[in-house]
Amino acid sequence: MDTDPIPADLLAEALERAASPGWERFSEMLAHTGGCTRPVRLTGTARRADADTGELALVYDSATEPDGVLLKACQSRRATRCPACAATYRSDARALVLAGLIGGKGVSEEVIDHPLVFATLTAPSFGAVHTTGTCHQLPIICREGHTHRCGVEHEPADPILGLPLCTESYDYDGAIIWNNRVTELWRRTTIATRRQLAGRVGIPVRTFDRHNRLAYLKVVEFQVRGLIHVHALLRLEGDGACDGPTLATAVLAAVARTSAPNPLAGGPIRWGPRCQVDVVAAEGRQRLAGYLAKYTTKSIDAGGLLDHRLNREELARLDVGEHLHRLVKTCWDLGADPRLAECRLREWAHTLGFRGHWLTKNPNWSTNLTALRRARHEYQLQKAETDGVTIAEWSYAGTGHRTEGDAWLAQSVARDRWLNRRIAWEER
Ligand SMILES: [Zn+2]
Ligand SMILES: [Zn+2]
Ligand SMILES: [Zn+2]
Repeated sequence: MDTDPIPADLLAEALERAASPGWERFSEMLAHTGGCTRPVRLTGTARRADADTGELALVYDSATEPDGVLLKACQSRRATRCPACAATYRSDARALVLAGLIGGKGVSEEVIDHPLVFATLTAPSFGAVHTTGTCHQLPIICREGHTHRCGVEHEPADPILGLPLCTESYDYDGAIIWNNRVTELWRRTTIATRRQLAGRVGIPVRTFDRHNRLAYLKVVEFQVRGLIHVHALLRLEGDGACDGPTLATAVLAAVARTSAPNPLAGGPIRWGPRCQVDVVAAEGRQRLAGYLAKYTTKSIDAGGLLDHRLNREELARLDVGEHLHRLVKTCWDLGADPRLAECRLREWAHTLGFRGHWLTKNPNWSTNLTALRRARHEYQLQKAETDGVTIAEWSYAGTGHRTEGDAWLAQSVARDRWLNRRIAWEER
């Protein structure tokens, strides 16, 4: 919690706002946006058609708002962009994960009795990288034929961890293609898991699917070496023929055997050797939800430099480490290869080729984020939107708060919400 003294000019701005005639409405808008750091400012009107006469009546006009604008939350999920909206996203994500783990939000509480496993699936190696413990004490020969060794005991916070020993021989193309194809690899793995399960019970997949449903949710995260890794929860609802350990064995077998085609020459896309699958007991499920939700708002790099689509100019002056820069540049350059047109690598250079969503689930898991958001947020125009057709016209007036004082007021709204949310969680 920050205890720094508030600068005098900032305090003066905040007080001026609080003493202004529109203060009540302004603080209401701050609350609606959850204290968003960079809200979108909109101007516009809403008109509603009379059901009988068809006549349009003005029901909302932003001109009546403080500063003549409506504030709308930016809804970013990245803490580096907007801590307030990221906290809201994380809280929604946690509710979504939790519903599929222990029930609630429209999901039956019986889910707690269904076999559940937690899988961490990682990428294969694309070249030796610095690791914890005593790092590469023995010399290794890279693909370029050089001899490399390190021998250092890296501290856990050492920024060199995960970086290649030899950038010349590191397979950057392979890493980018892997990130790009991981979603397809995952899809095939879930299909293979069902086949494995059916095989274990000794019935055809079709029969198995009639009595069992595989529900899953996955969260992706970047490792320091710039490769995606997947955390997934898989839950089996069915006739009880398979227990937790059977499910875990089936997932492991599917992970070991599944591959996806490689659009470049070279071997098929596979998971790395360091994958782990654990059975989750009923007691551990709460904690797991918090752990998974945390990953959804983490940015690839701490400064948030890569949290938006890049253009050529940005690419040239990107201020990230050499390894990350090489990955971004490789992704951009491969984007020109006609064989990879469908991978749309230039569009996804900022995510190092990865083009899926950070958090995904199949419909069997639980409710979705949009539904949660709808239930959670009171829509700002609710007052104006009753039955009947409403025609709204909006224009963009800017982003962010008008003054530092307003931004500071928003920040205190966000802080209050954060505290309340934490208390609510602790009281569960
Ligand atoms: Zn925001
Ligand atoms: Zn090292
Ligand atoms: Zn080398």
